[in-house]
Amino acid sequence: MTEAKKAIELKNKARIIDGKALAQNIRRGLAEEIAALTRRQGSKPGLATVLVGADPASAVYVRNKIKACREIGMETFDHHLPAASSEKELLTLVGGLSANPAVHGILIQQPLPPQISARKVLEALPDAKDVDGFGVVNSGRFFLARALADLEFCFIPCTPYGVLKMIQSVGISLQGRLVCVLGRSSIVGKPLAHLLMLHNATVMICHSKTLRLAQMVSQADIVIAAIGKPKFLTKDMVRPGACVIDVGINRLSSGQLVGDCDFESVCEAAAFITPGPGGVGPMTIAMLLSNTVKSWKRPMPFPRPLP
Ligand code: NDP
Repeated sequence: MTEAKKAIELKNKARIIDGKALAQNIRRGLAEEIAALTRRQGSKPGLATVLVGADPASAVYVRNKIKACREIGMETFDHHLPAASSEKELLTLVGGLSANPAVHGILIQQPLPPQISARKVLEALPDAKDVDGFGVVNSGRFFLARALADLEFCFIPCTPYGVLKMIQSVGISLQGRLVCVLGRSSIVGKPLAHLLMLHNATVMICHSKTLRLAQMVSQADIVIAAIGKPKFLTKDMVRPGACVIDVGINRLSSGQLVGDCDFESVCEAAAFITPGPGGVGPMTIAMLLSNTVKSWKRPMPFPRPLP
């Protein structure tokens, strides 16, 4: 957390949920687990990353994930294909990684170039190594879960999982609370809403067609912004004492990275807030590592059949 953000926290008494520190704790726990279990498992956990093309933001995300893996004692298998690669080339690579027993998780960095169908590639991922949780079987099991115990049989998508851990880290109970999720994407908004409902929250999802959006948001005990619009959420939209989680990462023309919340203004109303960016991002990576360790610890085949 930057000194400037700490100063704002002190001034306004909104407590900052420090995603970086929380992610570090989770990574430390995973490192201990890996050190203790490597002999029993006969191998270290391994994550394969696949980057196609040279999108600078994607390259940074992948680099951060590889660095985080190595720091906790995981093996990495890094693959970088040229932007002009064909779908067949990528599917061949995925086939090789699927068959490699040292690889426990495969991460295909999105977006993919237009000549490659992301859906086809996701469908080619073996369920046991789909640690992002976006494949058809994992998504099906996740969305069909009726109780928390059912989540044992799938990988929970990493960003929603990280957001949940952040809310829980400050002792906020979700039971019965009104949560407003801003955004309905398949990777953040939708799975997050489902995960929160499994924790007995009352969830409303707002999107670009929502009428009276500000009025809806202002009723919520917890607001989670995941729309990709710089500084969209302002103080007047936030109920005093609410908890605000900022998932958004937006680059301004000045080059500065900002979240979906107007941090300084929202701090005046919220009781808890995440510093976006720098809060949810590190937690997303920590949960990816956690899912890979889960895959490594599992007897194959995984996901197991439902009971
Ligand atoms: P998408 O573009 O897939 O979805 C954006 C959602 O926001 C859509 O549902 C859209 O509505 C809604 N939306 C857009 N504009 C408005 C508006 N003015 N009012 C209300 N709703 C609006 O984005 P993602 O879910 O992939 O990502 C959202 C943000 O989170 C981005 O900034 C992204 O960079 C960041 N992100 C951060 C991660 C992290 O680890 N920190 C991980 C993943 C994403 P509609 O459906 O009607 O179009």
